Amino acid sequence: MQRIAVFGATGSIGASALDVIARHPERYRATVLAAGNRVDALIKLCRVHRPEHAAVADEAAYAALRDGLRDAGLATRAHAGLASMESLAASDACDTVVAAIVGAAGLSSTLAAAHAGKRLLLANKESLVLAGELLMHEVAASGSRLIPIDSEHNAIFQCLPGGRTDDVARIILTASGGPFRGRSRAELAGVTPAQAVAHPKWSMGPKISVDSATLMNKGLEVIEAHHLFGMTGERIDVLVHPQSLVHSLVEFVDGSTLAQLGLPDMRTSLAVGLAWPDRVASGVAGLDLIAQGGKLEFEPPDLDAFPCLRLAFEALATGGTAPASLNALNEEAVSAFLQGRIGFLDIPALVEDGLTALPSARAESLDVLHAADQAARRHANAAISRLN
Ligand code: NAD
Ligand code: MG
Repeated sequence: MQRIAVFGATGSIGASALDVIARHPERYRATVLAAGNRVDALIKLCRVHRPEHAAVADEAAYAALRDGLRDAGLATRAHAGLASMESLAASDACDTVVAAIVGAAGLSSTLAAAHAGKRLLLANKESLVLAGELLMHEVAASGSRLIPIDSEHNAIFQCLPGGRTDDVARIILTASGGPFRGRSRAELAGVTPAQAVAHPKWSMGPKISVDSATLMNKGLEVIEAHHLFGMTGERIDVLVHPQSLVHSLVEFVDGSTLAQLGLPDMRTSLAVGLAWPDRVASGVAGLDLIAQGGKLEFEPPDLDAFPCLRLAFEALATGGTAPASLNALNEEAVSAFLQGRIGFLDIPALVEDGLTALPSARAESLDVLHAADQAARRHANAAISRLN
């Protein structure tokens, strides 16, 4: 029996993970469920999955969680605070951790799981962008098995037999292009948060949906791929593929290219992560290419309309704390955009301005990275206030 902790249980990835887990009660059990501050949603999940532990990040929500679990007649133990999530991630309560908290907030529990040698199903790409070297070091040192859940990286993982990358010429990440594909920069000026989160192919949380609309999501994924597969930015390409059926490709030195295909549903990646090297049913149907329109199209990304992708490549090339700054600037800008405080084109402008203004230092410790993250958030928020 695999005992699984789901961090970010109330989110989109959390729901997909719990769906796959519940299909295989003889193999999998959700023993820990953790979320940000949605106590009612978390208790509802506890009623269904009956975990041993439930945790909320918001310490002020502890009593509500404890009382709610008791009133529901559940034996689930309540916890609150990020430190309690770190302890749970490293504890005997689980042997597998689904890291699906959104944003830099997911880093500490992800690092704790890696340090403790857990099987790590990593959806929280921001933790790799922020502290990729440290995280990969923890994984290697503890012998943890990291399986990328981001569909592109999960695709590449499936295309690399034995994880060998020596014979890889380049990897090609596919991108749907998001809801604004084909629009010029001028046509993007007035788009609203509601339009930005209406993704044509994937159903996801609000932050990653906006990232998909700006192409920052693909930029974060380039940095993610760099850390996961040890590739320099020069060997990572991006191809827009509006059907979102080819999830990524790997080109080998002999001219052979492998790709992984499937319907755009994260339960496939999660089933791969849970069962690998076995395969289990995920609830996702097989791919009928004719029923899907019989066409696979590809086009280059438009870096003029969507400069966030270029900025991410530049931050990767700069190295050091630049990716951490990029991530923090973007998180603050996306949050302000979702609140209606800034426009869509302000997102790349704020990130570019911050990257130019903030010095990049060597990313030698978590403290240095946290300081860069905090400085970037302050810089972004000062700039956002000036725009209001
Ligand atoms: P979401 O917004 O639907 O869910 C986020 C989860 O994180 C929620 O459970 C929320 O309670 C929790 N959370 C938020 N802030 C927290 C905090 N401070 N402490 C603890 N928990 C907190 O997001 P999502 O779409 O499920 O995405 C989660 C992660 O997976 C992101 O990093 C995203 O980039 C990545 N990802 C998502 C998809 C997808 O299809 N949704 C695909 C690839 C990668
Ligand atoms: Mg992805």
